[in-house]
Amino acid sequence: MPKSLLLSFLAACILFASVSVMAQTVTDVPLSDADLKIKSAVQNAAQNAAQSATSEATKKLPTAEEIAAERARLERMRAALAAERAALEKYKADLVQRQQEAAAAAAKAKAEADAKAAAEKAASEKAVGSAGSVPPPAKDDPVSAKNMSPEELQRQRQLAIERAKAIEKAVAAQRAADAKKKAAAAATTAQTATPKDKDIATMKLRKIMQNKVKYVHLRDVAVNYGLTFAYTKNKANKVSGAVIYDKTRKAIFSATYRDGTVNGVQVYFLYPMLLKNSEPYISEVDFLTCLDPLLRYKTPVKLGMKTIMIDAGHGGTDPGAINGAHKEKVYTLQIAKRLQTQLEKLGFRVIMTRTGDTYPTLQERAALCKKYKPDLFISIHCNSSTNKTPAGIETYRAVPVGGTETKGSKVKTEKQSANEFDANNSRLAYEIQKGMLAATGGTDRGTRHQAIYVTGNATCPAVLVEVGYLSNEAEAKKIASPDYQNKIVSGILAGLAGYGSFLR
Ligand SMILES: [Zn+2]
Repeated sequence: MPKSLLLSFLAACILFASVSVMAQTVTDVPLSDADLKIKSAVQNAAQNAAQSATSEATKKLPTAEEIAAERARLERMRAALAAERAALEKYKADLVQRQQEAAAAAAKAKAEADAKAAAEKAASEKAVGSAGSVPPPAKDDPVSAKNMSPEELQRQRQLAIERAKAIEKAVAAQRAADAKKKAAAAATTAQTATPKDKDIATMKLRKIMQNKVKYVHLRDVAVNYGLTFAYTKNKANKVSGAVIYDKTRKAIFSATYRDGTVNGVQVYFLYPMLLKNSEPYISEVDFLTCLDPLLRYKTPVKLGMKTIMIDAGHGGTDPGAINGAHKEKVYTLQIAKRLQTQLEKLGFRVIMTRTGDTYPTLQERAALCKKYKPDLFISIHCNSSTNKTPAGIETYRAVPVGGTETKGSKVKTEKQSANEFDANNSRLAYEIQKGMLAATGGTDRGTRHQAIYVTGNATCPAVLVEVGYLSNEAEAKKIASPDYQNKIVSGILAGLAGYGSFLR
């Protein structure tokens, strides 16, 4: 009994007992309002019971015929019930016997398979040889064969075979149901568990060469990541690119341009998607250094994330971009210092390439990275254009070998220290770009590849963020404000958190 039910039951017992006691003994003690209410309820109940008893008593009594009829009806019901019970008992006994037979049959089935086949063959030969003779009764036939006509014997035999078949079918159905249950349980477990990444080395990917570039079949990529493949089409209903996706991941490729989209963030690939013989391909270097790190749940390379180097762009004699009173070197240092404060609060060790209005050369900054061996390197800059319209956020990373700059076409052939971290660079750039966009609501100008000295020569995963365009009046005002600078910082922190969960 549930505890609450038990408690209400006990309370009812106590109430009943106290009401009885009161009614019997406490008649001369003045009663409280509550007691009076209980007493009146008890009296009402007694009155109602008395009334209903009186009305029952005044009803017409049944005649002798009616009593006899009722008795006969009850007798018939009793007989029917007894028959039902007997049938049920028989059915139960039958069922137990069948189950035992089925269990025994299943256990022996394998060993007896050959013997049975031989016996059946022999039996059929015998039947053919002695056509018209009576087949022997089945071993487990419950009815004695002696008193049966040949027809009845044949019928019983047939029934036994059918029964055996029915049992086999029931056992098979039970097994199928069990297997289904198991599969459902496994599916539930798989859904709740962290998805597992496939090792690239174990993937089967068709590859082709085109213009000296190695390509992998995009349909095969989709299959290996458990993603669905679909072509995208333009207004003229011609294939314009492709999309691979599942519930949580989605990558879109263009057959014309390098810019694609991964989970809603603009990502520049190194090459456009290739359509060859109506089949979709992406460059192998894109697959390995851009796409795989973004589709993966966990990084294949274990890297730490304790020490972070922050590089405030420009400084001293190098003001960076200028728009009236707006100077890039001022804002990059302000944002760098805000980021430093927040990271130190979170327990990170932070190393700054500059803390004042000084200009360490690019080589000196790279040397600091080499010397202090941070786990991550983040360079902060503001963008600029001769055209005053462009606005928005970009994140840069080193160009992988075999790829080209986002704004170039020359294929990079020489490896830099940063290329050790191509996969992590891709994920770091994506996460930070995503974080800054979410925090500021700024325009997404994508994660890009460029030959930048500090990111290319970093000795750890490294990115360079362009937090907005100083050449755009409205954006310059925003970048100058502490509010926007704080938003950029929280966006970078969110990106680092995303990158961190990719590491662990
Ligand atoms: Zn700059």
